[in-house]
Amino acid sequence: MKAFKDLGLDENIIKAVEDMGFETPSEVQEKTIPILLERETDMVSLAQTGTGKTAAFGFPMLQKIDVSSRTTQGLILSPTRELCLQITNELVNYGKYYKGLNVVAIYGGASISEQAGKIKRGAQIIVATPGRMKDMIGRRMIDISKIEYCVLDEADEMLNMGFYEDITEILSYSPKDKSTWLFSATMPKEVATIAKKFMHTPVEITIGSKNIGAENVSHEYYLVNARDRYMALKRLADANPSIFSVIFCRTKRDTQKVAERLIEDGYNAAAIHGDLSQNQRDLVMRSFRTRQIQMLVATDVAARGIDVDDITHVINYQLPDEIETYTHRSGRTGRAGKTGVSMVIVSKSELRKIKAIEKKIQKQFDHKEIPSGMEICEIQLHHLADSIKNTEINHEIDSYLPTINEIFSDLSKEELIKKMFSVEFTRFYNYYKKGKELNVPTADPEDDHKDSVRFFMNVGSKDDFNWMRLKDFLKDLLQLDKDDIFKVDVMGSFSFFNTESKHQQLVLDTFHDFSLDGRRISVEISKDTGRKRGGRNRRSDSGGYSRKNSGKKRDKDRPKFKGKDRRRSGKPENRGTGGKRRNRK
Ligand code: ADP
Ligand code: MG
Repeated sequence: MKAFKDLGLDENIIKAVEDMGFETPSEVQEKTIPILLERETDMVSLAQTGTGKTAAFGFPMLQKIDVSSRTTQGLILSPTRELCLQITNELVNYGKYYKGLNVVAIYGGASISEQAGKIKRGAQIIVATPGRMKDMIGRRMIDISKIEYCVLDEADEMLNMGFYEDITEILSYSPKDKSTWLFSATMPKEVATIAKKFMHTPVEITIGSKNIGAENVSHEYYLVNARDRYMALKRLADANPSIFSVIFCRTKRDTQKVAERLIEDGYNAAAIHGDLSQNQRDLVMRSFRTRQIQMLVATDVAARGIDVDDITHVINYQLPDEIETYTHRSGRTGRAGKTGVSMVIVSKSELRKIKAIEKKIQKQFDHKEIPSGMEICEIQLHHLADSIKNTEINHEIDSYLPTINEIFSDLSKEELIKKMFSVEFTRFYNYYKKGKELNVPTADPEDDHKDSVRFFMNVGSKDDFNWMRLKDFLKDLLQLDKDDIFKVDVMGSFSFFNTESKHQQLVLDTFHDFSLDGRRISVEISKDTGRKRGGRNRRSDSGGYSRKNSGKKRDKDRPKFKGKDRRRSGKPENRGTGGKRRNRK
């Protein structure tokens, strides 16, 4: 392992590194820094988030620019305002021993004239988001005609967010003979394309395995009548109790409307769109980031600034007009090595758009069904059981326990459990017992798995399963074909799958007294077969949910819902239940 001083870095940087307490260079630093210091070259460097890429391009850039000149020599483009500020901050720290160094951050939502003023005073390095940068170049507030180094940081993200055109335009104002350094966590096709377009024989450095990124996202569509869109959305949320999602609508009006209905129905939702002030948007984003908001309803334009990891689901409430936009939407999930699901609610007339998108993204959608009411009840019950089991005991309740125990003294544990779960179950049950069938039947003959059994299984994504892995696991264990196992849905700590009825006994026998890595695995027949509804999955399997979830219901067609993943927010979760408010989980 090398030390920083072996990389060719000068005294100013070495001192700053010591001040920051960095002991040894990270792998990406060790590999990129010497090359970038030694020669003028383009570079593509791929390494996971958090591996120190900022210093990997920051140290060489700082060392190579001339701080005695006030000309802008380096440009760093980054996808979001937060990152932009973060990089600026790091560079200022790394470069604190370079006298006269001036690094300026350029980003939207702040005073443009103030930023222009800072540039005017002379900035050797500009760190910018593409939108504002393009704007300021257009207004001749920034001159990048003399830059020698250009960094495209988090290139995959910038493309996900739809900045391709902006980047192209910005770079058209920069000199041809500069060096371009692209840094990215993943290498989807789009990044390879810009590497080709903007670079000449770049040196390629890959740390770890080349992650093509978009593989983390599975795509699903749900076929419903256009008038049932909203109800379908609610069911998708209820079937995914700890959903943390962005919901895309086409217009500001719809965005606002859907958010309002969700809020009215008790969900933790909010809208983000261009009619909000920057202040309001900041507020919404802060609540989303801290997970006070579980469902963020957004327009495409407003969603550009969303840089939140861990989004479990992107829901296309309506499909975008442009196919291209779908890619940006689905790219909000499956970030930083996590898996995600992009769901589309479509009506029959839009089905051909799904085909067009499949062609564009080179991936197949799974045709999935809106869960039935009973399925949702079951998911919610398991989720509740799971949350109770994982709840840390709050000893503040100790002093109340004698009276509470007194109240329940006549009940056995079994009765207590039954009653407790009935509270939850009845609420959902009452809401959903008259819930109508939302799925529109399709004519696809493959859609029919007439005679099947649905199983519940007590392992889920927490056990490192996703639907593909679980399906493979079952297939191997049961020695069945992969088409014999379908409708695999993986939730947080449990899962569901179907087989044809003729395999029922095989499944039950196989899992009788079955352990995996010392843990008892139980498989039971699920109440809901998922079968009595309209069409069946086009392909026999179905994409899985990959995260644990939380949800609610009340009466009529307006179940009250307030769900929040407490593990993350740490706040008590209120859910409205027909007027009553309770803390839960
Ligand atoms: P990336 O851009 O790859 O996601 P960052 O450049 O943001 O990663 O670095 C992540 C964190 O690691 C930052 O807080 C940074 O200060 C710190 N860091 C970077 N390099 C080192 C190092 N060699 N030793 C210790 N910490 C480092
Ligand atoms: Mg970074």
